[in-house]
Amino acid sequence: MKAFESTRLYFERAADILKLPESLRKLLLTPEREVQVQIAVEMDDGRLETFIGYRVQHDCSRGPMKGGLRYHHDVDLDEVRALATLMTWKTAVVDLPYGGAKGGIAIDPRKMSVKELERVTRKFVDQIHDVIGPHKDIPAPDMGTGAREMAWFRNQFEKYHGFAPAVVTGKPAEDYGAVGREEATGRGVGILAYKMLGNLSRKPQQTRVALQGFGNVGSHAAKYLYESEYKVVAVGDHTASFYSPTGLDIPKMLKYTLANKGTLQGYPDAEKIGHDQLLELDVDLLIPAALGGVITSQNAAKIKAPLIIEAANAPIEPDADEILHAKGTTILPDILANAGGVTVSYFEWVQNLQFYKWGLNRVRQELEAVMTRAFEDVWAEARQHKVSLRTAAYMIAIRRVQRATEVGGMG
Ligand code: GLU
Repeated sequence: MKAFESTRLYFERAADILKLPESLRKLLLTPEREVQVQIAVEMDDGRLETFIGYRVQHDCSRGPMKGGLRYHHDVDLDEVRALATLMTWKTAVVDLPYGGAKGGIAIDPRKMSVKELERVTRKFVDQIHDVIGPHKDIPAPDMGTGAREMAWFRNQFEKYHGFAPAVVTGKPAEDYGAVGREEATGRGVGILAYKMLGNLSRKPQQTRVALQGFGNVGSHAAKYLYESEYKVVAVGDHTASFYSPTGLDIPKMLKYTLANKGTLQGYPDAEKIGHDQLLELDVDLLIPAALGGVITSQNAAKIKAPLIIEAANAPIEPDADEILHAKGTTILPDILANAGGVTVSYFEWVQNLQFYKWGLNRVRQELEAVMTRAFEDVWAEARQHKVSLRTAAYMIAIRRVQRATEVGGMG
């Protein structure tokens, strides 16, 4: 199923319960603006290459639009559109004063040099800077991008518009970035895992976890869970997956990736397993923290974990979601589960606008407060309406966006 179709289905399910009028459904399913641009750059060998870049701005009724910039070879308009709508619901469910947007460039960053990536980023900014800005639309890191790309983005934007550090978040901590932004998504996943287990009267020490993805989100989630005494029994990235029934040594694996171009390939101290096997392990908690669409109607019936936290965006397809729901799996949905990243992005933006710098403790405390409140809201909504956590999260988000749209007026 195409990505936008999936997010639309989740939206419709909640909109039905809310009895959202048809006119508003149409409005909320139609992005405000979709930009597609040509990115022509000279490669290191002198060749001219042309790439395609996108920025979809979905909704701004609750504030400036916010969302990451993805560099991945599978990026297309449909995916960026789906991810932009997810950002609207995500910022609404954790109640940040933002709307939703997303960008992407169809490139494989692993196959490009640093200089080539810089040229691509700067050219992209040349093409879209007019529709971006600290009070319009604020990009951030996503898959394939990080602080480095954000620093280039800001620098290129400022050539047109002057000093504006708040134009992007996820910048280097020493240069207008927020301390704690890099760990924030993974840490948010860890905070929510703890809350969810608490509500289900389970203890971390008795919780076996399988985690798919060891990039920015997965590695920080693994670290947090390990430090909180969960038994992380399986971890994998795009190169290899590993299993240890007694629990993996996460600090050792993190150290290994540092010396191994950021990947787990060849890790010697655990049993190597297949990528599919990792998802289907008999564990208590499964955390997909990599690509979207990894749990489908093909493998849903084989998923044994009774709890799933969607650290990635859209890792479960709607058909699979129904199969899992029918067998009683509790799923913490992406729009809440991975909102820690955009929450600390918000803190970064606030600091930039106020020229005031917070310490790590404050960032962590405020992150915990935002995530806890949102989790409790969603949990209570699900109990009250006897719906899944996903539908509850969408209901809260849609209601907030609906309210902002109506209060602002639509004339
Ligand atoms: N790309 C991240 C997400 O999907 C973060 C977005 C942001 O910080 O604006 O939530």
